[in-house]
Amino acid sequence: MSANFHGLPGSPGIGIGNAFIYLPKPVLLETGHVPTRLPPSQEWQRFLEAHARVDVNLERLIHNTDALVSDILASHRTILHDATVMNGIEAAIMQNQVSAIDATQLVLNEIADTFRSMDDDYFAGRAADVLDIGNRLLGQLGARKPLSSLINLPPQSILVAEDLTLSDIIELPARQVCGIALAHSAPTAHAAILARSREIPLVCAVGKSLFELRNGQPIIVDGNLGQLLASPSEQQLRHYSNSHTYLLQQRKLANALAYQPAVTLDGQPISVCANVNNHDNAVQAAQGGADGIGLLRTEFFFINHETFPDVAAHAELLIEIYDLMQPGHPENTAHETGSDPAIIKPLTFRALDLGGDKPVRFIPSPIEMNPSLGLRGIRLLLKRPELLRNHIAALLQMAATWRRPLRFMLPMISTIEELLEVQTHINELIPIVATEQSIDAEELAQLLPTGVLVETPAAALMIEQMATLVDFLSIGVNDLAQYILAVDRTNASVAAMADPLHPAMIKIMSHIGRAGRQAGIPVSICGEIASDATAIPLLLGLGMNELSVTPAAVALVKQAVRQCNLLSCRQLAEQALKCQNSRQVRELLMAL
Ligand code: PEP
Ligand code: MG
Repeated sequence: MSANFHGLPGSPGIGIGNAFIYLPKPVLLETGHVPTRLPPSQEWQRFLEAHARVDVNLERLIHNTDALVSDILASHRTILHDATVMNGIEAAIMQNQVSAIDATQLVLNEIADTFRSMDDDYFAGRAADVLDIGNRLLGQLGARKPLSSLINLPPQSILVAEDLTLSDIIELPARQVCGIALAHSAPTAHAAILARSREIPLVCAVGKSLFELRNGQPIIVDGNLGQLLASPSEQQLRHYSNSHTYLLQQRKLANALAYQPAVTLDGQPISVCANVNNHDNAVQAAQGGADGIGLLRTEFFFINHETFPDVAAHAELLIEIYDLMQPGHPENTAHETGSDPAIIKPLTFRALDLGGDKPVRFIPSPIEMNPSLGLRGIRLLLKRPELLRNHIAALLQMAATWRRPLRFMLPMISTIEELLEVQTHINELIPIVATEQSIDAEELAQLLPTGVLVETPAAALMIEQMATLVDFLSIGVNDLAQYILAVDRTNASVAAMADPLHPAMIKIMSHIGRAGRQAGIPVSICGEIASDATAIPLLLGLGMNELSVTPAAVALVKQAVRQCNLLSCRQLAEQALKCQNSRQVRELLMAL
């Protein structure tokens, strides 16, 4: 009998194969094999030697792999050399007289636990990176069995695991794996990021029920819908293998047209921008044909700053990203395909979305019981206006230098007063920067379009009034779903319930789309759902004029736009608004 399992879509596509249950045990060898404890200074020396070997191995791997993996490995190397790691292990060995092995386990588990408890899936995902480093060190200290049996994976495998470390993924023989199903993890974890870049369909956050599957059991992974079908019927198999073939053809076509604009069948151009978290993402966005950056997650760029990012640090970031996106830039291959180099691609700078859950050294934040409802995003910036003013001053300065608009987007807005307070800062800074940069103040004001990232229910419900005060709206569906549906997006046991296609979400998105139309301002969508090509007709029907997606999805999303007719999209949205649950919404999308 076939059975369904539901999780979150981590990497799009359909995989048809047989379950390979992978449960590596992160356990030490039996006690007898653990090297005996030496005096602390010798244990510390052993640790330093193991550390040096891991460092050399990482360096070798970094130079022998593709850009994405090498970027992630470079971040692992940063963890390896981090002062918290080194000092913590040294203290455990030298002061607490713990063995090198125990100290490594202790300290790295502690750091991983701290990351895991953070109320943000990006940071929660970093726990896996810390453990990956821990495993490498333990391996070099002789305390861990050699890694995994993944090299011998049989062909047509669907890898079923709790989670995957980067080392697991590097080892994956991609040709043998046609899909991945994970009990934990999130679409923002490295497992999903790499699966997307390698075009392996992945479903995550399925929960422990995943282990009801048996080794060798036939499975279909539907990475578009975030679901698995175990022991599918003949009819289901036929349906999915047709979809699979269709999707492969679409991907080929999409890649060939990546640099062409996305225009609907009835002639409406839709801008398909990228969500960018780091330099590599920006390169990928530029090379992947993105029409601009719809969400620059600035906190990831400033996370390692020891001191407050000043105007100069902001300007450096803006110059790097802005340049990269322009077709004349050498890393931007768009010009080779005949794209118009005169088109200036927009850049949307999101004000730092920090809070108690994303601690940074330059702002000590209090421990909060419920950080996602705490001092986060704009709330924190209004308490520390010097940082907000640095954002504004830098954006105005660079916009004046380039005589080009830079968009400024405000996260976690929940009251009109917050919006007005930000605008007061902007209005105070415009004449100052205008004088410095010898530009007319009114002209400068036009170069800083300001928008609300709609991610709280309060903003969504007040959107008609807010829309009259700003230049654009963007829907942050990831957080909006968390708050509307009362689901902690980082809690694996409920994360799958934060379904962006829940009818309540469809209603609220339609309401925001209408408010944008009435106010005559563009409405964009930048949550993960916009990266799902199958959802595009619905999102356009709900009134979105712009999509901002994960860089790897740009070409496919553009292709999905090209197949839409806006009139039919609106009819589809009308039908979706009458659905009782997200299953019915998905059935509508699948029937297209
Ligand atoms: C969102 O909440 O949808 C969003 C785009 O922001 P983030 O995922 O960075 O919270
Ligand atoms: Mg958000």
